[in-house]
Amino acid sequence: MALPSHVKTVVIGAGIHGLSTAWHLAAKLKARGKGGGKDILVLDKTAIAAGASGIACGVVRNNYYQPAMRELMAHSVAVWESDPAAFSYHSVGYMQISPEAMRDDVAAIHEQQKAIGYESVFVEGAGASEVYMKGLFDDWQARGITSVLHEKKGGYANNAAAMYGLAKKAEDLGVRIATGIEVTGFRSGHAAAAVAAVETDKGVIECDQIVVAVGPWINRLWTLLELPKSVTIKGRGGGLHEDIPMWRYWALEEGTLGVDPNLQKTNDGAMPPVIHVDTDAPLRSDVDGSLITEQMWGIYYKPDFNFGGIQGGAMPQKVEVPADRVAVDPYGPDSPDFVVDDNFAHMWCSALAFCQKRFQGQIGRYKKEPSGGLGCFTPDSFPVFDRFRENVFVIADSNHGYKMIGVGKLVAEELLGGGSALLGPFRFARYAEGRLHPVSHSPFPWS
Ligand SMILES: Cc1cc2nc3c(=O)[nH]c(=O)nc-3n(C[C@H](O)[C@H](O)[C@H](O)COP(=O)(O)OP(=O)(O)OC[C@H]3O[C@@H](n4cnc5c(N)ncnc54)[C@H](O)[C@@H]3O)c2cc1C
Repeated sequence: MALPSHVKTVVIGAGIHGLSTAWHLAAKLKARGKGGGKDILVLDKTAIAAGASGIACGVVRNNYYQPAMRELMAHSVAVWESDPAAFSYHSVGYMQISPEAMRDDVAAIHEQQKAIGYESVFVEGAGASEVYMKGLFDDWQARGITSVLHEKKGGYANNAAAMYGLAKKAEDLGVRIATGIEVTGFRSGHAAAAVAAVETDKGVIECDQIVVAVGPWINRLWTLLELPKSVTIKGRGGGLHEDIPMWRYWALEEGTLGVDPNLQKTNDGAMPPVIHVDTDAPLRSDVDGSLITEQMWGIYYKPDFNFGGIQGGAMPQKVEVPADRVAVDPYGPDSPDFVVDDNFAHMWCSALAFCQKRFQGQIGRYKKEPSGGLGCFTPDSFPVFDRFRENVFVIADSNHGYKMIGVGKLVAEELLGGGSALLGPFRFARYAEGRLHPVSHSPFPWS
């Protein structure tokens, strides 16, 4: 495609957020009789689904301790449910299975899910939790569990397939998607903060507004936009924490046990909900019984025909070097540095066996192929959705975001001059103003 010299809206990144924003913006413009997507251009340096959205586990859940996150997820689940076939979305539900240290947090989540009409069942007590789980899987054997939250909505979507579904919806409304084009800089207008044009490796495109939705590459684009590399955070007690790096990386650890996905069907033969287990019971090797950890640990898993087995992951690993020194490219399974190793396979397969007897002795079926990938996190590990430089909207989801398909709908409303109460708690100013989200007892940085 020949690059236009001017478009009204440039969207950078053809992942979940860029594509969802382009689609919704085009739909809203069409509804207003303003030409649909013909003045919207999505640029991606590689391809549709080349980033985190194309390798994500694809889990869609509401289980968040932070009220603002839960409301955003409920909104997003409604978008997933609007066209399950196009989004390759499997509405199988989701379970958070937890130890005593998390019981109160999860009970609060359940109460608030009731308040927003998000259907879930909450089971408390070790005995009742075991009975509930055995009612689903007769080989359930996880220990250290005292509560179960069973969300009846949510589930998972097939990662790249959902992106192609979104891209088709956007293109059907006239949006142009140009791949193999890298944004390398931004040009300001005369003496103005606003960006007047994006520079790419194939030429300059003048534009009126820009959406930056580049997932793990946000640190680089943030630098190109000359936004602050560190922030001051007002803590809960009012004290100031200065010079906190704006971005840091974690390596997501995921893999696939290459068994027949049907192995994980429930007692009544149905496809099961996505399972997430956290526990403080010691984890021992399924190979030789040696101790793997006595710290709180967690895993998630689901049968997935797309991955060809039982697919899931465990807690991510912190990348200790500063964000500017992290090699994001080549990304995902192509990375020489940020793919899972044998330790992950040993831990995760042992944890599967800890939870369900059917996985005992199966570690030999683990797929030895590169998997996992980087996520870029904000200082509090929650998203920043905000406008910068007057006309640049940044969607930086802090790696929460495959499930957040609805964020693009809210951003599209803001691009057209509307406001969004759901995006309000995710503004950049929250750091300086001390409007921080509550923190849970989960071992994961994203719960
Ligand atoms: C292994 C893994 C598993 C995950 N599992 C889940 C999950 O189960 N559920 C969940 O909700 N979230 C999950 N996440 C998080 C989720 O995938 C991300 O938060 C989300 O996909 C980010 O979407 P995005 O649109 O912001 O970015 P991406 O999907 O990363 O897309 C960004 C795009 O921008 C392009 N780009 C970058 N720089 C430029 C440039 N300069 N010029 C042009 N194009 C550029 C890239 O090529 C890329 O295609 C997971 C993440 C990982 C890594």
